[in-house]
Amino acid sequence: MADPTNAPTLLQAREDLKNKKYSALELTESCLRRMDAVEDRVQAYLHISREQAIEQAKAADERIARGDDAPLLGVPLAIKDNICTQGLPSTCASKILGQFKSPYNATSVDRALKAGAVILGKTNLDEFAMGSTTENSGIHPTRNPWDLERVPGGSSGGSAAAVAAKECVAALGSDTGGSIRQPASFCGVTGLKPTYGRVSRFGLVAFASSLDQIGPMTQTVDDAAVLMNVIGGKDPLDSTSADVPMPDFTQALNRNVKGMKVGIPREYFTEGIDPEVETAVQNAIKTLQSLGMETVEVSLPHTKYAVATYYILACAEASANLSRYDGVKYGHRTEHAGNLMEMYENSREEGFGEEVKRRIILGTFVLSSGYYDAYYLKGQKARTLIKRDFEEAFKQCDVLAGPNCPLPAFKLNEKLDDPMQMYLADIYTISMNLAGIPAMSVPCGQTQGKLPVGLQLMAPHFQEETLFTVGKQFQLATDFHKQFPTL
Ligand code: GLN
Repeated sequence: MADPTNAPTLLQAREDLKNKKYSALELTESCLRRMDAVEDRVQAYLHISREQAIEQAKAADERIARGDDAPLLGVPLAIKDNICTQGLPSTCASKILGQFKSPYNATSVDRALKAGAVILGKTNLDEFAMGSTTENSGIHPTRNPWDLERVPGGSSGGSAAAVAAKECVAALGSDTGGSIRQPASFCGVTGLKPTYGRVSRFGLVAFASSLDQIGPMTQTVDDAAVLMNVIGGKDPLDSTSADVPMPDFTQALNRNVKGMKVGIPREYFTEGIDPEVETAVQNAIKTLQSLGMETVEVSLPHTKYAVATYYILACAEASANLSRYDGVKYGHRTEHAGNLMEMYENSREEGFGEEVKRRIILGTFVLSSGYYDAYYLKGQKARTLIKRDFEEAFKQCDVLAGPNCPLPAFKLNEKLDDPMQMYLADIYTISMNLAGIPAMSVPCGQTQGKLPVGLQLMAPHFQEETLFTVGKQFQLATDFHKQFPTL
């Protein structure tokens, strides 16, 4: 029987299920028991789909008995609550969506289910994925399993905490400006933001459509490769999904890194970085060198404009995307309205949280006539310069390495009333979304206070394989990914 306090890795689970060490039902029940034991403290989930998970697990056991060998068969997954799941609430942790239930599955969810996954529930996030701590959730905050007084990061903090607390085998998150990598780093798990267009966005509730991507959050790089094989690839339902060949990512795991060049962006080790984070990342770079990789210093000179550029463009897109929440189509409608305008206004006033309102206002402002050229258009130009920085850097190396976040996990409430401080801490993760390139966070150390630190690896467009190769070889040489908090 699976040890209920020790959800196996995805690879281990598949092997054990094949060898009939335990059934999918037993594995699912062990995850549910783990939730019973720790959820009151961690609060990673917004909805737990107990009955449905048990039904799916039983169906998986029947498929296993028939000799089916689908890649996720019987694997219990957690899904971020901005990814649509039929029959379960999909609320984006926003009051405005109420208990909205999507009539269809997101393509990534559909593909995971067809591959045999069991869905345990929907995980918490900053409302509409806007934030870096999960404190902006309109429902409740999630806590970091390594230190319950700290945040798990965000916005996919629920998925990261659920993986770290072993309340699932693996999870899906979304990343618009770091929301997979930063919480993965804060919680000591592996997270991949794929190339823009690699994974279908169909059924991912839009925050900033030109930046959003769904990706895996797992215990290991191996597990992320298996999950990517399932969720990646062209989807006719998302015209921005790319029609490029989908390699078998697991094939990239055991390639040699000897002689590969790793670029170290000078701008990612300047003032503001916590010394313990810097040390952990520098040690990780030494590990890469010991594996035979060559390091070169590179420059990403427009890094200083990344925060401003991202917050102008992401808010502009959000203000347009969020105009659909009008009190008519979904979820919450005010009871205090004398006419149609008041109905719209009061529904939005009551339904959206502070941070979402701040961004709608900012986004509407930068798109308004008279300010469009000064902000939005300039932001688009800066985005091109940031993208070119990466193109130049990748002329000198195969992969880039650096931190995900200048700081380890913050204390709850530490940055909540200073949005500017919160935005500035996104400095190392937002440029990859602006450029559209893939990036991965792997655990690479701990602070003296036992808070995990992540190493960020970045590759050119559609070169996820490079990330899988380097990430896997790093995990073979280290055991940070094997460490889990005691709860
Ligand atoms: N922290 C960033 C923001 O608040 C990124 C969020 C995300 O990637 N969804 O916008």
